[in-house]
Amino acid sequence: MSSDRTAGADLSAEVEELRRRNAELYRTLDDVGRFYEGLAQLRGLTTPAEVHERVLALAASLIPCRQAHLLVHDPASGRFAPAARRGPPIAFPVDHLVDPALIAWAFGIQNASVVPVESHPLDEGGVRSLVLGPMACQGRPVALLVLGLESEEQGVERIALDLVWALSREAATVLDRLRLTERVRGLVTLLDNVLESVPHAILAIGRDDRIIACNSNAEFLFNFKRFLALGERYQDVFPAEVARVFHAVAVSALEGRATHDVEVEHRITEATTLTVGFSASILADTEGQPYGLVFICRDMSLSREVEKLRELDRMKSEFVQTVSHELKTPLTAILGGTEVLLVDEDTMDPSQVEVVKIIEDGARRLQALISDLLDLSRLESGRIVLEERPTDVAGLLAETCPAMAPPDGPHRLVLDLPEEHRQVYVDPGKIQQVMENLISNAVKYSPRGGEVHVALRYTPTHVEVAVSDEGIGIAPEHHSRIWDKFYRVDSSTTAEIEGTGLGLAIVRHIVEMHGGTIGVESDPASRPGSTFRMALPLKGCPQDEL
Ligand code: ADP
Repeated sequence: MSSDRTAGADLSAEVEELRRRNAELYRTLDDVGRFYEGLAQLRGLTTPAEVHERVLALAASLIPCRQAHLLVHDPASGRFAPAARRGPPIAFPVDHLVDPALIAWAFGIQNASVVPVESHPLDEGGVRSLVLGPMACQGRPVALLVLGLESEEQGVERIALDLVWALSREAATVLDRLRLTERVRGLVTLLDNVLESVPHAILAIGRDDRIIACNSNAEFLFNFKRFLALGERYQDVFPAEVARVFHAVAVSALEGRATHDVEVEHRITEATTLTVGFSASILADTEGQPYGLVFICRDMSLSREVEKLRELDRMKSEFVQTVSHELKTPLTAILGGTEVLLVDEDTMDPSQVEVVKIIEDGARRLQALISDLLDLSRLESGRIVLEERPTDVAGLLAETCPAMAPPDGPHRLVLDLPEEHRQVYVDPGKIQQVMENLISNAVKYSPRGGEVHVALRYTPTHVEVAVSDEGIGIAPEHHSRIWDKFYRVDSSTTAEIEGTGLGLAIVRHIVEMHGGTIGVESDPASRPGSTFRMALPLKGCPQDEL
């Protein structure tokens, strides 16, 4: 009887145990069901931050932890940086316990793993083990899930680790997809910006004749609305005569014939007709297979206008050169004649002397103008080649400058040259011409005299020359224009000073041909005088020549 009772008690204990296990199993099944539901929801998230947060929440629901972290991989630096955290802030966050060697180990295992760690003194009695969930997609690391546990590693069940591994893989795929989407979005924006920045109409058409992309210049030129046209056949969007041109250009491009600027008169409004140049090239996919054409349509009137202007400019240069050459010979004869006449100046009637001197003066001015005109037109046509050779620019200045301001005149020429003499690779004749121009201007535009200061100095990369005077100066509004041909500052003072307005144009050409720069500093309202500064690069001279 008592043994029966004992057997009955054992049975009910067993049934009780079975019930408990059954309930536990159901709870686990429920948990797993909820977990997979959460996993499925992960795929619907649209930002990495949402995914990070959800991953941490799901992981923490699987394995109770002190802190959960997500470290995201940066492909550029190869590092893992903290991107999200769950759990209360602690003095020593668990991501500090994860070093590159541990990360490399975790990714090598291809599963979620649990490792023991020594509690950090700043996190007393805190984290004793770490669960690591490596997230990789197609072999590339994406992120690392780190859970800091207060329990020993043996306390973590295998099923929980398996689920963390499933979570890590799924999250890696979702994050990688979001990263890719972001990149594609960036590329699309870039492409849109490029399309919009081109000053021509651009239209991409697929093999099925449907419009794939276009820019706003195309909308304007062919008078259609992009949002209505995208995806439509171009024959249904454009008038028949325009569609015919697209078709003809497309056929040429597909047959491999050159399609550069097939020109068509295109009416954009009742009153305006433009000459539009059509060209096309083939669009190929990543395998090189053609899938459409991109058309570029340009308004040709502008380029024709530019072509016409270029032609006019060329004709004008030729004309100036021919006329100048023709004038040179008779001028030389006139100057020779006046010289001969003035030999007998003492015996001549003073009024005759005056007339001959006026002729001589005029002829000299004309000669200067012709020489400047010829120089400039040669420089502009690009027919002048610099004869660059190692040159001691300081020595060149010491030779040239003194003769330009006679010692008995009202000007005092001061040369400020460095002790060292270096060789600079320049065309000495042309640089002398520049210096003569600048110094003669400094003298000319200082009618009351004063100091003309010429300074030279070397920087590590340039030789710099500054020519300063104490003359009439140049108001700032003229600074940008004095380099233009024939530009002369118009004032009562300058009216009496002779000049052609070509000197500085020649100077700038020569300096720029040397790869140098030149500028002016002057503000007569606050200080008299001007300073012209030129910088030439120290190029091409081997060190031993310097
Ligand atoms: P120009 O033959 O008239 O001197 P440039 O081309 O050499 O022609 O100079 C253009 C103009 O710049 C001059 O007409 C003058 O008004 C102004 N200019 C040039 N150098 C100086 C200077 N050192 N001081 C004042 N004005 C100057």
